[in-house]
Amino acid sequence: MINKLGSAYRTGQVVFRIMVIGLGLLFGQVQQAAGWGFGCHQQVTELAIYSLPKELLPLYRSQLDYLKLACLQPDKRRYVNPAEGPRHYLTTEILDRVSEQQNRPFWAQPYDSVMPRLGMADRHRLGMLPWHLMSLKQQLTAAMASRKPADILYLSAEVAHYLADAHVPLHTTANYNGQLTNQAGIHGLWETIIPRLVLPPANLMPTKAQYQDALQPMIWQTIRQSYQEVDTVLRAEQWVRRYLPPELWYTATTGQSAGIKTGRPTYSDRFLGLYADRIGPMVVRKLRLSAWSVASFWYTCWVDAGQPRLIPVREGDLPPGFVDEVRANTTQQPNRDGAEASTANTDQNKAASDHDCGPCCH
Ligand SMILES: [Zn+2]
Repeated sequence: MINKLGSAYRTGQVVFRIMVIGLGLLFGQVQQAAGWGFGCHQQVTELAIYSLPKELLPLYRSQLDYLKLACLQPDKRRYVNPAEGPRHYLTTEILDRVSEQQNRPFWAQPYDSVMPRLGMADRHRLGMLPWHLMSLKQQLTAAMASRKPADILYLSAEVAHYLADAHVPLHTTANYNGQLTNQAGIHGLWETIIPRLVLPPANLMPTKAQYQDALQPMIWQTIRQSYQEVDTVLRAEQWVRRYLPPELWYTATTGQSAGIKTGRPTYSDRFLGLYADRIGPMVVRKLRLSAWSVASFWYTCWVDAGQPRLIPVREGDLPPGFVDEVRANTTQQPNRDGAEASTANTDQNKAASDHDCGPCCH
């Protein structure tokens, strides 16, 4: 059944190789996971590259392999940098509650204003995703204006990661892993296991990047849209649990679903097939939308930088070790289970790592 689902999604797709809130925050501990599985992040990045106009495509395509590795680095950093986690999510419920208390939306407040007013604990509870993206917008635009290819590539990969995370519904809610609704495990199920079942390996059709008059509203709209989809993500899984008797939810083994290490009971094929059937189209749509958003973000930075001429670069044109460092970091990082999070150029990309609430936060 699962194979049938996978092939159905492939049909017809063209082969394209392709705050304000230093105040007492109202929720308890918030812990979020990493975002799309590694394979999805790479697929988003590659698809974004092929969504670029001809002025940008040569540079990005010339370092496609680097970008596909570098876009994974933010998740890698979570293992070593305690400040990294909050950049991957926003807890919308907290944001809305504080806005209500203050009788004003603070979403529009700029990064430089927000950051100094938040302690580390507040950042972990609220999440810093939108503000971090706005900071990256400034940095990437500056890098393009000064035509520094290494900076452009590095910052573009960062944007690709965080903006893709903003499209994941469970990265926008306090109920990030279904822990408030007795659905523990749904985070990894939606963003890592189901994509493996429903996405084609690399054959999605790109959508042409578009200039955005203002990226800040686009970022907030993206997050708000993702938040509105949380209910759909949860309800579909609840439906499967009602439809299937509990003894059919899992297999006798533990620790792996669809070839992906989870450390949790293994979902049965029937459970996965039913959930994929209901939620698969959303996953595919969100992944494609992620790629379009990333490409549009890059393109907007380039236009705002004055449309500088960007030319392809070879590895030798980049600073010594620039690419090697990323290569090394993506082949040796253990995940939470101690398994190898192999993320370099193998099909295991899709199985890499347990994205089910890793050690990104406190
Ligand atoms: Zn992430």
